[in-house]
Amino acid sequence: MIVVMKMHASEAEIEGVLARIRELGFAPHLSRGQERTIIGLVGDDRQVADAGVLAALPGVAECIRVLKPFKLASRDFTPESTVVEVGEASNAVAVGARRIVIAAGPCAVESWEQLEEVAEAAKTVGVRLLRGGAFKPRTSPYSFQGLGEEGLKLLARVREVTGLPVVTEVMTPEAVPLVERYADCLQIGTRNMQNFNLLQACGRAKKPVLLKRGLAATIEEFLMAAEYILASGNRNVILCERGVRTFERATRNTLDLSAVPLLKQWSHLPVIVDPSHGTGMSSLVPPMARAAIACGADGLLIEVHPHPERALSDGPQSLTPKLLAETLVGVAAVATAVGRTL
Ligand code: PEP
Ligand code: MN
Repeated sequence: MIVVMKMHASEAEIEGVLARIRELGFAPHLSRGQERTIIGLVGDDRQVADAGVLAALPGVAECIRVLKPFKLASRDFTPESTVVEVGEASNAVAVGARRIVIAAGPCAVESWEQLEEVAEAAKTVGVRLLRGGAFKPRTSPYSFQGLGEEGLKLLARVREVTGLPVVTEVMTPEAVPLVERYADCLQIGTRNMQNFNLLQACGRAKKPVLLKRGLAATIEEFLMAAEYILASGNRNVILCERGVRTFERATRNTLDLSAVPLLKQWSHLPVIVDPSHGTGMSSLVPPMARAAIACGADGLLIEVHPHPERALSDGPQSLTPKLLAETLVGVAAVATAVGRTL
C-alpha cells in the first residue's frame, strides 16, 4: 500500500503515519518529493484489510493498494492453472484442463422421468456433468422451491444410471452436510455469493465448489468470495460467470464475457460460463456458449429441459436436448479453433 500525504502535510503528521505503520507491523518507506511526501508499506499489506486505518490519519490524502486483496485465489501466488476434479476418482471430470467441460441439466429437478430423459440425452451428446437444482433460490416464496432431499436422491440415482457426476446448489451452511452426501460438486448461487457463513461452510466441505458470480458483484468481490472458500480449507473452486444486472432489460442479465479472460489473468482457478442465466433466452444460448469458449472459458453450464414450455422454473432459457446437441456442434468447432477439445 502507498500512502500519499496531503500537499502541505506537517512533519508531525508524517511522523504520525510512520509510527502507525510500524505499529501495524510494517516497515515504512519514506519518499519526499518536491511537493508531496509518499510513504510505502513494505510487506504483505493484505493484512491491512481496511485501508481506512491509514486513510483516516491526519495529513493523509489517499491510500493506494498495490497488491490485490486476494491471495490464495491469485495467480501471483499460484502461477499454474488449477484443475478441479469433480466426481469419484474412477470417473472424475477435470475442470480447467485442455478439454472443456459441459455441465447440463434442468434448472430444477422435477421428477425422475424429466431428470433421466435429460441426463441420458445430454450424455449422448458429450455432456460430462449433470446439473439440477433440488433446493431452488426463487425470487417469490410462492414459486416452486425444488424437491429438496427427494431431488438429491433422484440426482444420486441418475448418477448411478449414467455415471455422470452431479452438481447441485446448496443454500444454507446447515444444509452442506446433506447436499455433500449426495452431490459431487456444491453450487453456490449468485444470490449467495456473499453469504460468508455459507462460503466458509463449503470451504470446510470435502467436495469441490462451483461458485457463481453475484448478480451485482465486481470481479474483485467475486474473487474475494472464492478466497473465503480457499481460506477455509477447500482448494477446489470453480468460478462461474453467469451475468450481472445492468440497465439492460432486453436480456435477463448482461453476460460479462470480458470477466473470463480477466479472471484467468488474475486467478489460477478454472472459469466456466452459464449462458442460460446470463441471457435468459434460449435463442441466445448457442451464440454465447460459442463466444464463452472463444474467450477462454474452461466449460459451460447449460440448462436443458425435455419440455421447456412446461418447466417449473427457467423454461424460457432452457434448451431442448435437440437444441443442446446442435449447440455443442458449434461449441466443438470453436473449441478446436482455440486449441481446446470437447
Ligand atoms: C441455477 O443455476 O439454477 C441458478 C439458480 O443460478 P444463479 O444462482 O446463477 O441464478
Ligand atoms: Mn435456473
